[in-house]
Parts: sequence; structure tokens; C-alpha cells
Amino acid sequence: MFGSELRPETGVPGTSPGIPDVAVIGAGPAGLAAAHHLIRAGLRVTVLEAADRIGGRPVTEEVDGYRLDGGPLPWSEGSELRHCPGLERLVLRPFSSGVVIRSGGRRLRIGAPRTTRHVRTGRGTRGVPGIPAGSLGGALDLARLRAQLNRLATTPAERLSRRPELSAAQALAVRGTAPHACEDPLRALLGALLCDPELTTSSRVGDLALRGFARGGLFLPAGGVSAVPRLLAAGLPPGTVRTGVHVLSVATNAVVTRGHGTVHCRAVLIATGAHEAARLLPGLRVPRFHPVTVLHHAVGDPAGPGAPAAEPLLLLDADRRGPVTYTAVASAVDPSRVRPGRALVTSVVLGPAAAEPADALDEAARRQLAALYRVPTDRWRLLAARHDARAVPATPAPHDPRRPVRMLSGLYVCGDHRDTAGVQGALRSARRAAEAIRRDFAPRARPAVPALPAAA
Ligand SMILES: Cc1cc2nc3c(=O)[nH]c(=O)nc-3n(C[C@H](O)[C@H](O)[C@H](O)COP(=O)(O)OP(=O)(O)OC[C@H]3O[C@@H](n4cnc5c(N)ncnc54)[C@H](O)[C@@H]3O)c2cc1C
Repeated sequence: MFGSELRPETGVPGTSPGIPDVAVIGAGPAGLAAAHHLIRAGLRVTVLEAADRIGGRPVTEEVDGYRLDGGPLPWSEGSELRHCPGLERLVLRPFSSGVVIRSGGRRLRIGAPRTTRHVRTGRGTRGVPGIPAGSLGGALDLARLRAQLNRLATTPAERLSRRPELSAAQALAVRGTAPHACEDPLRALLGALLCDPELTTSSRVGDLALRGFARGGLFLPAGGVSAVPRLLAAGLPPGTVRTGVHVLSVATNAVVTRGHGTVHCRAVLIATGAHEAARLLPGLRVPRFHPVTVLHHAVGDPAGPGAPAAEPLLLLDADRRGPVTYTAVASAVDPSRVRPGRALVTSVVLGPAAAEPADALDEAARRQLAALYRVPTDRWRLLAARHDARAVPATPAPHDPRRPVRMLSGLYVCGDHRDTAGVQGALRSARRAAEAIRRDFAPRARPAVPALPAAA
């Protein structure tokens, strides 16, 4: 049935084209990052991608001159982004005016001035970003919240991972992480960081997310989230990635594709996302997913009456007076997303509201955004509403953030569903899987043979 054989080229210098050591299935962040690690380890790699483009879930589309992200909004700057080969030139634009949380009619601001940074050179700050004077929260409550976040920022990640594991909501309630007046704002912040407004996520994952925020604040990737897979792919030897190749089944030494024959190899790494991974490897656990809808509005004349202040800040609505969980003038954080003289507002809907039809969401969101930005929004133009029911894998307690990536010798799996949800979890799982493959490929050490006594 699959008569023709796909003969993948490899770009590893000094090797001849032929059977690759590793066939990676999927050219999302995990598959592309794994290819970098494996090639660095001296292995010949081919990446097979079903779609006609690389990138996986992180998509940036150009609509009418606006660069619109279909996926992740704010990121905290984690070590995986900093240390992943291929991402040296990734630029992260900070929310340098911080985060403003509307709660109980008050506006509470957390954040400090920051500048653009390249991931390689950027380092998380020690201590939580300051809370500028003029915030409307009670000064004492804010000081307490700041002290709590500071403590989190300086606590080693391993120590946080050893704390008793609850749901993030229970942990906030029993630990008293925030002073009473700051509980709702902190819940809103954590819900946004986890894409989980109900806070069903494991408290350990929640602690690490808050720690990441407290150490370095939040960022947008310059030019859109697709910069991550684009840079990763650009750093691979030419011919490493084949698009339009749908993998139908796998074995430890071959993959069968639709219409491109069988690819022989010495190992297979599945980097497809959870559902497809479970189809290829029956028995693999498929998590629940958090849905996300992203609304993009063009503001028209950024100097006109409907223009929000062009401040690089993230606005969270803890009062939940509409479907939007958080929103930002994305063009103020990353001007490369629009042409000069334009402004782009990007808003994220999480939880059950994310499933509502786009026009209903748009109507309700406009009213809420008018209150949040304090400008009329009736002249704003909806550029796109991007819904993904399987945006982010849920990680309820108990959650093992280091799920096995080695199924058996020759068969491996990586992706955000094997680690923590999101791009950084996907990158970390790729590094772990590549390390497992490298170990299996390393020549076994011969057992020491005792020396024979010298002949008399
Ligand atoms: C709307 C939305 C919002 C998000 N928000 C955030 C956020 O705020 N922060 C964050 O960090 N992350 C967020 N994410 C999640 C982030 O995009 C994922 O964690 C990340 O893309 C996972 O990378 P991956 O490589 O594991 O999987 P994917 O990106 O899903 O890549 C898998 C690849 O495998 C390919 N593939 C599948 N089946 C086959 C097959 N049979 N043969 C060949 N190829 C195949 C797919 O086409 C795809 O390219 C969001 C995602 C979405 C959609």
C-alpha cells in the first residue's frame, strides 16, 4: 500500500543522506526543539509534519496588516526559553507598565519598568516587580502581597515542588498567600497565568507560575508567537523538516506515512500533541484541555476618542463583568504587530465563555472593554476571534510534571502533555526526550574484565 519510500535527507555535516537516526513526528515547538538537541548530540534527524506549515499550535496570522496571535498571550521568562538552542535571537517584549487587576471596583497595579530583552541575555530579577505609588489598593495589603510574592520569587523551585499538592484554589484558601483584600486579584492573576480561571490546576504548577511572574514579569514574543517555531526551524539544517507528511503509524524503527511511504529510522519521537500521540501509541493518557478564545480588535485612529492609553500593561478583570479574563494593547507591548499609526487590542476569554459564538462574545466583550479601558469601543473593529477547545492541557493535582518520555528503547514521546502546559513545558519535554534518546544511542560501557595473572 505504501510503495514509495520517503528518503529523508539529513543536513548533519559530514553524513551522507540515508536513513535518519531519529524520525520526529510533528513540527511544533516540542518537535523542532527536540531536533535541535538531537542534532547537537550528533544524530541524524528528520522531522515529519502533517500540516503544510511548521509551528503547531502557536500561530500568528497577518490580517489587514495586523499580526494576530491565535495562541499564547503573556509569557513569563523561563529558563527553557533562555536555554533552548535555536532561540538565541528570540526577543521578548515586556509588559513594562506591569499588570493592573480590577477587583471590587479598585485597580491594583503590580509591575515595574522593564526593557526589551533577548532571551539569551535576559535574567529574571530577584524579587517581585514593584507596586508603584498611586495604586488604589490598600497600601498595607499591597505591601503584604508584595512580600508574599517576593518570598515566592526567592524560593527554590525544587522546594515549591515538594509542598503538599492541592488544587491551586484550595492552596490559596488554606495557605493565606494573599491578604484578604488581595485574594480575588491574586486568583485572577493565577487563573490568567494558568489559562484556568477555576484554578483546578495543581498548586505546585500554580506556585511555579506565580514564581515565574514574580521573578521576571510578563512578556510577548516580538512579532508574534510564531517567532518561536520559525526561529527553531530556521536554525535546523536545510531539509530536516518535511511538511505535508502525515504519519499514520509508528514502530521503533519505522513510521508509515499517508502517501509518502515508510520512513525507516533507528528511533521514533512522537511530538504531535496529546490526542494524536494517543492514537499513535494507544494507552497513552489524554488530559482534559482548557479552551481559549482570543479576540483581536483594531482601534482605528490611536489618537481618536476610542483609543485606549498606549500603555504596555496587562489588564485583568477579577470582577468578571464580561467574558474577557484579561486584555492588553498588544501594539503598545510589541509595536511590530501593527503598521505605524495603528493600535491592536488583544483580549483573552477563558473558561466556559470561550465556547460562545464569536459575535455574542464580541458584543459582550466590547461593553466590558469600554469599562476596563475607559473609552468608547463601538468604533473598534473585530479583526478575528480565534477559538481553540484544546489550547492548553489541564494539569490537576496530582500532577507529575516529568511524565515519562521514553516508552521503550526506540520509541519516545514529548510535548506539553508530558510536562507542564504551554510552550515552556513543550520545550522542556523535548530536552528530556532528546536526552533519553542520546542515552539509548550511547555505546554501552563494557563491564570491566579482571586482568589475567601474568604467565609464570
Ligand atoms: C489559543 C491558544 C492559547 C494558548 N495559550 C498559551 C499560553 O498562554 N502560554 C503557553 O505557554 N502556551 C499556550 N498555548 C499552548 C501552546 O501553544 C502549546 O503548549 C504548544 O504549542 C505545545 O507544543 P507541542 O509541540 O507539544 O504541540 P503542537 O504545538 O500541538 O505541535 C504538534 C505538531 O504535530 C503535528 N502533527 C500532529 N499529528 C501529526 C501526524 N500524525 N503526523 C505528522 N505531524 C503531526 C501538528 O500538525 C503540529 O504541528 C496556547 C495554545 C492555543 C491554541
